[in-house]
Amino acid sequence: MENNFFYASSLKIEFDHTFSIEVNRCSLSEILLAFKRIVSQLLPEFIMKVLLGYAEYTMNLEIKPFSCDKCCNNKDFIWKTRHGKKTKLLTIFQWVALQQLQVQCKCCFHKFYITRKLLGVEPLKRIPEETQRKLGLIGALASFRVSEKIMSMFGVTIDKMTIWKAVQNTGKKILFNLDPYELAQGEADGTGIRIQGIKKRGRELKVFVQHKRTGGIRIAGLDIGNYHSGWDKLFKPVLKVLKGFNTFLLLTDGDTSIFKGLGSKVKVKLQRCLWHIPHQLKYTLWSDKVKRKTADWLHILAESIEICAIRSLVDDTDIIDSMVKSKLARLDKLISFCKEKEYHSSAEFLENAKPDMFTAINNRLNGKTTSRVERVMRTVNLRANVGKWSPQGALNATKIRLAYYYNGFDA
Ligand SMILES: [Zn+2]
Repeated sequence: MENNFFYASSLKIEFDHTFSIEVNRCSLSEILLAFKRIVSQLLPEFIMKVLLGYAEYTMNLEIKPFSCDKCCNNKDFIWKTRHGKKTKLLTIFQWVALQQLQVQCKCCFHKFYITRKLLGVEPLKRIPEETQRKLGLIGALASFRVSEKIMSMFGVTIDKMTIWKAVQNTGKKILFNLDPYELAQGEADGTGIRIQGIKKRGRELKVFVQHKRTGGIRIAGLDIGNYHSGWDKLFKPVLKVLKGFNTFLLLTDGDTSIFKGLGSKVKVKLQRCLWHIPHQLKYTLWSDKVKRKTADWLHILAESIEICAIRSLVDDTDIIDSMVKSKLARLDKLISFCKEKEYHSSAEFLENAKPDMFTAINNRLNGKTTSRVERVMRTVNLRANVGKWSPQGALNATKIRLAYYYNGFDA
């Protein structure tokens, strides 16, 4: 809730305040400590003074920056009280109790408070949105303990619990989606995060990023759930915007069955993350009981890395065609090799990956074929690894964090 009223010229409010300070020594630290105490004393008075000065000024205006709740009159009011019952609200520094300013409507005689209306603060809310967002951002960027510590060094008396709540409330309000004006390409990937009461890497955080024209990325979706499931929940919110694109290139290793129901309106072209393939092969080789660093293990990994390496800046279509052809032939040979040796999981894994390995390059889409979500995940983990989280708690903190780093969210 913003107060959109502007003064014709800036309003000057002058006031004096008499301080009385007690110090034991005249050291800098002692003086600064006294300053912190003054701030906490001064702040409510300071707000009240400015508020009252502004209120007096607006009462002399023909059209007021507020209107009657009952009859919508915005011209004729009389003062009821300048020292009404107190309303408490949290600022970024501390709690303040403000005396309410009350006016009466000359048209319908309705009496109401104008304090929060003038401040641009939501009615009844003890923690205004303005404060909530700032605390939410602090708590998403640093651990609650660190947030509390740093804030206290500046004289802020806000406890961990309040910061935690602000993270939850702010995170809940952040919704991600695709931007129809950015590129029709993106990546989706998942990473494990620690969850309270669940062994080590308990849940999977799934991130959907969209590539931007400027070369960067933005967050288009975020969800938390079990491993290897719930990909539809990640993609569902973006389907509407997705339909505005003709072709969307999606780099992912996740389950993409949700896109099959899209009809002919939008084509989602899938590209396997080539960066991941050798990594995933290590896992399938392990389940095929191929010992690390044996000749077969080395051969399969080396081949897969070479197949997955795509040289950028190749723009001759004939060269591209020929390159993809040779890579596919090499891949077929590798699959046959795995089959011969009865490395079934590895053979199956490569066969499944094959159709989506060269989509980007075959379609002359200048999409990246290696994951940039990795970086995003590191950004997530820096915070998620500190402290214990419930799934919802982790999701909300991550939302703020990523919105801040990638989508221009600020408090
Ligand atoms: Zn009225």
